[in-house]
Amino acid sequence: MTEYPLEGSCQCGGVTYRLLEAPLKVIVCHCNACQKLSTSAFSITAMVRASALECDGEMKEWQRPSDSGNINAAKFCPTCGNRIYHFNPADPSMLKLKPASLSDTHIIQPTAHVWVSEKQDWYDLPEGVEVFEKGPR
Ligand SMILES: [Zn+2]
Ligand SMILES: [Zn+2]
Repeated sequence: MTEYPLEGSCQCGGVTYRLLEAPLKVIVCHCNACQKLSTSAFSITAMVRASALECDGEMKEWQRPSDSGNINAAKFCPTCGNRIYHFNPADPSMLKLKPASLSDTHIIQPTAHVWVSEKQDWYDLPEGVEVFEKGPR
């Protein structure tokens, strides 16, 4: 079993954080914006309560409207540019942590894949996960 809190940091170490409890859900998103964000085939999001994440260090913020009409705000390290988490300013009680920056990434066990309509052809979806053509509804 994973022991909490788990430590995490951006690539340069300017931002560090502690995750106090297990994520509620881990989701893979294959949309074009997430491919650009991750500079890879998809991004991974761990849904965590805001009360379960303690961050240290200066972060910058950037926002864009999401497909659903919500605002998708992002916190990132101003030095190395590593994305720490996303959130909806209308509901800041829930954060979308980018969990690859955790010191122990074994908790990254995605149970849902979204926006597979935009996924890379060479990536085969694993068995036993929820699959959504677009965003989850
Ligand atoms: Zn950094
Ligand atoms: Zn996405």
